[in-house]
Amino acid sequence: MNLGTFHESQTATAQENECRCRLCGSKVEQTFVNLGMSPLCESFLSRDRLDAMEPYFPLHAMVCGECFLVQLKEYVSPEQIFREYAYFSSFSTTWVAHAKAYCEKIVSRLNLGRESLAVELASNDGYLLQNLLSMSVPVLGIEPAANVAKVALEKGIPTRIDFFGERLAHELLAEGKQADLIIGNNVLAQVPNLNDFVAGMRVLLKPEGIITLEFPHLQRLIEENQFDTIYHEHFSYFSFVTISEMAKLHGLKLIDVEELGTHGGSLRVYLAHAASGYAQETRVAELLHREKDLGFRRLSTYLSFDQRVKRTKRRLLEFLIEAKEKGKTICGYGAPGKGNTLLNYCGIGRDFLDFTVDRNPYKHGRFTPGQHIPILSVDAIERAKPNYVLILPWNLRDEVATQMCHVGDWGGRFVVPIPEVEVLDPKT
Ligand SMILES: [Zn+2]
Repeated sequence: MNLGTFHESQTATAQENECRCRLCGSKVEQTFVNLGMSPLCESFLSRDRLDAMEPYFPLHAMVCGECFLVQLKEYVSPEQIFREYAYFSSFSTTWVAHAKAYCEKIVSRLNLGRESLAVELASNDGYLLQNLLSMSVPVLGIEPAANVAKVALEKGIPTRIDFFGERLAHELLAEGKQADLIIGNNVLAQVPNLNDFVAGMRVLLKPEGIITLEFPHLQRLIEENQFDTIYHEHFSYFSFVTISEMAKLHGLKLIDVEELGTHGGSLRVYLAHAASGYAQETRVAELLHREKDLGFRRLSTYLSFDQRVKRTKRRLLEFLIEAKEKGKTICGYGAPGKGNTLLNYCGIGRDFLDFTVDRNPYKHGRFTPGQHIPILSVDAIERAKPNYVLILPWNLRDEVATQMCHVGDWGGRFVVPIPEVEVLDPKT
């Protein structure tokens, strides 16, 4: 290798490592939180794959100093993640009920009827659109994962198997399809090309149409230390301040916002064309002011998070080490995606957890990515009678504690890792 090519290859590496903001294009240099190397959190392993190599990717979230978008680089392409997806929305009863309530509310608020068109982006197995269809509102789902889209099609819900963006929006427009309502629930975080996605929504939206988007609220993530909700499938993490920047960049305006309890605390935002006739509800300005007061327009607010996460890791490990030193047995409850971020970042393997359990039969007999903790059916806890049950889906802690209160029969305790380690007595 001569010196010329050496310099060229060095420059190429420097460019690859440079991070540009997915929203505003500024150079992004500040760490929000660095969770080290991690495998994809939904890549559960079958027994015959346990000795094979497992791909690990950086889980390093950065924050933009201009628009304050918290983001991961696109280490893994959406093609790899979303073409075949193990998550079926209809499995979650609370989420199905949430979708139904939303549909009833939005149909009356926007006065939707037989002449309208509602389009859902990432429509999954049709769990939401089926409600609109039964209210006689014409619908179209867009879903890239063929296996889940197939379920929707079998239910009679018109679904296009494709990734959404400006290209597809123009195709739909050419077919005479334009939307009165565009729905994007927990999809915004999952698009690597954010601007193409939002530009597509603008193309597809009628002049007086409405877009509603739901996404986990960054304010709650920071305040409640929910670092384990960061994983490779989620490229972006939004405050309301950043959503407002996004709207401005794309000729849209925020007309309303609601704070929801779902996924550890989410926002539902309502957007319309900037030139539309909608007035802005006072809630919009109120939330923007609140976030400003909380420091969401100052970089320092974001930069203190990394230290707090490291402290939480030390506390959790302290607890687990002490329990093991005393000869206690520990198992997990649940095998959610976020559990795998937590287990891999903290290095919690079978040296601490004998096994974990899950309600989803697809996961039984499989192993968690990275730490290879066996996943069993829920009744394994009763057979093993462990001293501690670590609740990995901490957002369902009350539900789990109620369902599993018999853990108290043998003196067992629940442990909740987030926001801080907490031990719960099932009997109280
Ligand atoms: Zn930015």
